[in-house]
Amino acid sequence: MPVWRRRKAGEIAKDVYLVGGPGYTDFEDCLVYAVNCGKAVALIDCGAGRSVKQIEENMKSAELDPEALEALLITHLHIDHVGGAAYFRERYGVKVYMHELDAPVLEQGDRVKSAAYAYGVSLKPCVVDVKLRGSGGEIRVGNKVFEWVHTPGHTPGSISILLSTNGERVLFAQDAHGPFSEEWGSNLSQWADSIRKLLKESFTVLAEGHYGVFSREEGLRYLRDLLRQHGFLAP
Ligand SMILES: [Zn+2]
Ligand SMILES: [Zn+2]
Repeated sequence: MPVWRRRKAGEIAKDVYLVGGPGYTDFEDCLVYAVNCGKAVALIDCGAGRSVKQIEENMKSAELDPEALEALLITHLHIDHVGGAAYFRERYGVKVYMHELDAPVLEQGDRVKSAAYAYGVSLKPCVVDVKLRGSGGEIRVGNKVFEWVHTPGHTPGSISILLSTNGERVLFAQDAHGPFSEEWGSNLSQWADSIRKLLKESFTVLAEGHYGVFSREEGLRYLRDLLRQHGFLAP
């Protein structure tokens, strides 16, 4: 995989901050984003669970008050994205949003489907307050509107999230790159359709779940390269 430019830590677009992930919290965490929604704060994914305190500290250094946390938008069922959910819901009363097809894994603390066993941790079960249904919709948090799109393939209930902020349009594609396993219900042809769907979106910034933050041009190239690697696009 090509090495992509990573933007500086902190604010990746107006009101959007990188607060977790390798180099920010724990190397096992996905990239965790916090969004300033005026009086409220939203988190997109929450890491594997060991680094919730460091996520709070990173929020504070971005001048975001953890006490203002209102929403946790979860992109899919893997431990590196959902591990901190129970903590944030118990500590701050955040409303947890997740697609209905992936939600049971978090609600049941499924160590196999979440891949928690591979990280040597357990997944604390957590109530999913809002189960997203269908192919897409909107989630309002404070002064922001998050548009979610069902992008199955990596897992059955994977979603991508779009946020318009100050002229930028940020696409949180999280685990667009895969990997794939029958254990989690991966489906490669659904995945290819999902990536094609993302290629049609009018994003200006692509925030990936592990590989960094890309400009539109880099992001398009990245998504097309993924299709190519799996034989869905001619070399
Ligand atoms: Zn991941
Ligand atoms: Zn994943």
